[in-house]
Amino acid sequence: MNREKNWARLQQETFDICIIGAGASGAGAALDAALRGYRVALIDRGDFASETSSRSTKLIHGGVRYLEQAIKKLDLAQLRQVRHGLAERRTVIRNAPHLAHPLAILTPYSVGSRDFT
Ligand SMILES: Cc1cc2nc3c(=O)[nH]c(=O)nc-3n(C[C@H](O)[C@H](O)[C@H](O)COP(=O)(O)OP(=O)(O)OC[C@H]3O[C@@H](n4cnc5c(N)ncnc54)[C@H](O)[C@@H]3O)c2cc1C
Repeated sequence: MNREKNWARLQQETFDICIIGAGASGAGAALDAALRGYRVALIDRGDFASETSSRSTKLIHGGVRYLEQAIKKLDLAQLRQVRHGLAERRTVIRNAPHLAHPLAILTPYSVGSRDFT
């Protein structure tokens, strides 16, 4: 994690793929590409995971908000998004059981309540 050394490497070495942005998306894409044997340069204008990714609650929830939209708006695309999210979640849990595991959550709900938000 030596910035000066890495700048020098960027100028001297050849890479197959250059990814701009080292948040969760960029880091994930970089890892995937590196595991496939590509030489990857991962660049960020700040620090790794310093933007949106630093604020995540780290729940791999699979898209509960998309599910809400799918049901409320009868939107098939949103439902497909949920399926995709759940499939990705399965992959993460399978590939990285040391980082991600199922967590039981209890949501209090009053039968008389009308406000779900
Ligand atoms: C409060 C909050 C809670 C959340 N909780 C969850 C959760 O529980 N579960 C979940 O799945 N998701 C959650 N999310 C959403 C999740 O955090 C984001 O979807 C995810 O972090 C986005 O990652 P990203 O890599 O796309 O973007 P970012 O993390 O923003 O990464 C983009 C990177 O690109 C860099 N960059 C931008 N432009 C340039 C440029 N021109 N040159 C070089 N670098 C550049 C930035 O510096 C940044 O580091 C939450 C989000 C918030 C705000």
